[in-house]
Amino acid sequence: MMMIAYLDRQQQQQQQRLVPDGGVELDPDHSILRALDSDATGDVDAAARDFGGMVFLKPARFLRPSTADDVAGAVVLASRSSRLTVAARGNGHSVCGQAMADGGIVLDMRTLGPTMEIVRCGGTAAAVDVPAGALWTEVLSWAVRNHGMAPVSWTDYLGLTVGGTLSNGGISGQAFRHGPQVANVTELEVVTGDGERLVCSPSSASDLFFAVLGGLGQFGVITRARIPLVPAPKMVRWIRVVYGAFDEYARDAEWLVTRDDSAAFDYVEGFVFRNDASDPVSGWSSVPIPAGSAFDPARIPADLSPILYCLELALHHDHIQDDNVDERVKEMLRPLRYLRGLEFAADVSYVEFLSRVGRVEEEARASGTWATPHPWLNLLVSSSDIADFDRTVFKRVLSRGIGGPMLVYPLRRSKWDERMSVAVPDGELFYLVALLRFVTPHAGEAAVKEAVAQNQEILRHCRNKGYDFKVYIPHYESEADWGRHFDGDWTRFIERKRRYDPMAILSPGQTIFSRARPPAAFAASAS
Ligand code: FAD
Repeated sequence: MMMIAYLDRQQQQQQQRLVPDGGVELDPDHSILRALDSDATGDVDAAARDFGGMVFLKPARFLRPSTADDVAGAVVLASRSSRLTVAARGNGHSVCGQAMADGGIVLDMRTLGPTMEIVRCGGTAAAVDVPAGALWTEVLSWAVRNHGMAPVSWTDYLGLTVGGTLSNGGISGQAFRHGPQVANVTELEVVTGDGERLVCSPSSASDLFFAVLGGLGQFGVITRARIPLVPAPKMVRWIRVVYGAFDEYARDAEWLVTRDDSAAFDYVEGFVFRNDASDPVSGWSSVPIPAGSAFDPARIPADLSPILYCLELALHHDHIQDDNVDERVKEMLRPLRYLRGLEFAADVSYVEFLSRVGRVEEEARASGTWATPHPWLNLLVSSSDIADFDRTVFKRVLSRGIGGPMLVYPLRRSKWDERMSVAVPDGELFYLVALLRFVTPHAGEAAVKEAVAQNQEILRHCRNKGYDFKVYIPHYESEADWGRHFDGDWTRFIERKRRYDPMAILSPGQTIFSRARPPAAFAASAS
């Protein structure tokens, strides 16, 4: 459950000391601490926060590993105590404290080396070996600039680390076609909960490889990932079209994501918005591209419903002026049932397209909403339940908008490997629903509590209606909730934890296991 926790000053001061066993402090001159300690109180404070801004848990140390051996050293150090835990912190973009370690060790994965390196995989195939703390934006610029190549699967926002998204899923508009980021990695280097450093892949130590993918940091710290590359397109035709009715929107979106690759767009996403020309966040102004371009409200038909849908599509190409692209796009759009006259399109460079949310970040930083709490909720809802979800949640519960984007677009289960830890709905087609709430600086705590309560109401509704759904980037605090989340795979999840992190040292902020309640204590559920 989402929570708002504030530690009092006294508690915080106590947690600044490293007290692993029966009150006996660790030697601050321990070689690992001496070598890696960020040695700055401000940094420890930074590791006590995340993008969500609702959970504050101060670690004892915020360490800066530069090699996988440093990571292993910190894990071994923790394993010699009875209480210390270790959390890898990517870029801290979790929203419920998932990358925190209350009184434990947080590892700043951003400092991890070495630099990125191209790997030739035979023929023209290539991949990049990436330190897990690299941001996806760094991977993009490195691969395009140095090799004219790029990975195929992205997140919308690229200020996230490779290790962070591989621990969750990594979803964007390419996932219907290429699978999520967890399905686009061929080798990992991992430090397990007993400090062992292993290289794994689908053919070597494969159980560890699949456990770690979507494994919420529970089975190992990823220190390096090998990501396949393809030639990067130069340009993208970026298109938005508007729908008045959800059933038409969903029918077209599902048709588009199930087409053969040869006839498919390269990217399919979509969002819900309010039929309100004066709402600067959730209204018509969110539709034109590039963002902020002029839009004539006279184009809005008079009889549209209050909630509308925008399908966002992209086609890669290599030329700025390409009649062939115009013709192809025209043909591809022809069967769709969007409202004619409400199309928006632009040609942008590939890097510019993938960096589009970076510009939103700049605006949010300027307005102060990047620093305020973010009570976000991400769901994966089966296509069999999405129309009901639309009727109840989008049209009723959220009819006034949420102060940020409301994404809804279909994905294909067959693009996710069942051996991975990530939990997805049962049906072949399911929708990502992302409620990306931004709270204005003057809104206060009441607004955050209201948003959290609304998220809970939506979750209750999904459960009561018996939807086939999962929370994406989940946060639960009870064993029963985690068991329900992983459902038939819960036993496997516990067994993997026993195998790779039996003392429950890793990623305590996920609140699944703890040092006081390690996987062995889950014996009944696991048998
Ligand atoms: P952190 O938040 O630092 O860590 C997340 C979890 O992974 C923690 O439990 C941490 O301990 C663990 N972890 C981190 N690094 C490692 C590692 N190397 N090895 C093992 N465990 C590790 N997600 C999408 O799928 N698609 C999107 O389009 C998308 N857009 C987003 C946009 C914004 C603005 C934000 C804030 C989030 C978005 N996310 C998206 C969610 C994102 O995937 C998660 O926040 C994720 O946690 C990645 O963030 P991070 O790299 O900062 O990881």
